[in-house]
Amino acid sequence: MGHVINVDDIEREGSCTYEFNDDIKELENCHVNSDILFRSIGDFIEAKGRVKGKITLDCDRCLNKFVYDLDFELDETFAKKSLYDEYGQELELAQGQFITDLNGEKEIDIYDLLYQSVILALPNKKVCGINCNEGLFVSDEEYKVQDSRMDIFKNIQIKK
Ligand SMILES: [Zn+2]
Repeated sequence: MGHVINVDDIEREGSCTYEFNDDIKELENCHVNSDILFRSIGDFIEAKGRVKGKITLDCDRCLNKFVYDLDFELDETFAKKSLYDEYGQELELAQGQFITDLNGEKEIDIYDLLYQSVILALPNKKVCGINCNEGLFVSDEEYKVQDSRMDIFKNIQIKK
């Protein structure tokens, strides 16, 4: 069984809350807990909530695994109608504010929403702690990794 919410239910109620408390199995030892408030606003569905949880990451310096506490605000907007065909899957409204096109889908996949949100919430530089002693002789530049998550945004071209 998946974690999905029906768009019609949100529209009928005006708003509803989905309580997610589960593992994200694609990520290592990742558990996420969040009450997400879905609101229907015209042609859009807004999803907001505080996300808390844990995930195991690999330290970029010493390569040891460490537990990272997740705590961030989820803020997503979905378009009910396929308004943004020419822009692709996502359209940036303002900085960091994206609209996801539902393409007429009647369900929102909350598991996928949280999976994507956790990935975006991870730090660029993953360091196990202030006491990490490995890599002391490595300069900042050398372990600055290319953030491939930003690559998807390079593909968005807005036609005029
Ligand atoms: Zn470390």
